[in-house]
Amino acid sequence: MPKWKLKTEFTFDAAHYIRDYDGPCGRMHGHTYRVRVEATSHQLHASEFCPHPAMVTDFRTLRWAKRDVLKGGLDHCVLNEVLPDSYETTAEMIAQYIYDKTKKDLPEQIRLKVAVSETPNSWAEYEDD
Ligand SMILES: [Zn+2]
Repeated sequence: MPKWKLKTEFTFDAAHYIRDYDGPCGRMHGHTYRVRVEATSHQLHASEFCPHPAMVTDFRTLRWAKRDVLKGGLDHCVLNEVLPDSYETTAEMIAQYIYDKTKKDLPEQIRLKVAVSETPNSWAEYEDD
């Protein structure tokens, strides 16, 4: 079966603190978050910007979080103020938040994987099978 996989990586800058964390992560601080988004599909689709079924999805659909917070993204925000209360601001749940919000804009059958990094050597990855 044919399969296409899109991979894109981007960064955004944001402040956060981990609620009730006993240690420095409990105080407000900032990261340049690195995000990797992978979208896998067995078929190609049209998109909001292209009427022909020629892509898995638009890369810009996968990269929304890179935009300024005032334009709907996460750049230069305080994550604790932007993420709904059901998400803590750990890398795990930021990945889940980006996954959930991206998934809503994609055709149902596209499989998605989102990884988030706060520091160069560590990643948290989320997918939902
Ligand atoms: Zn942190």
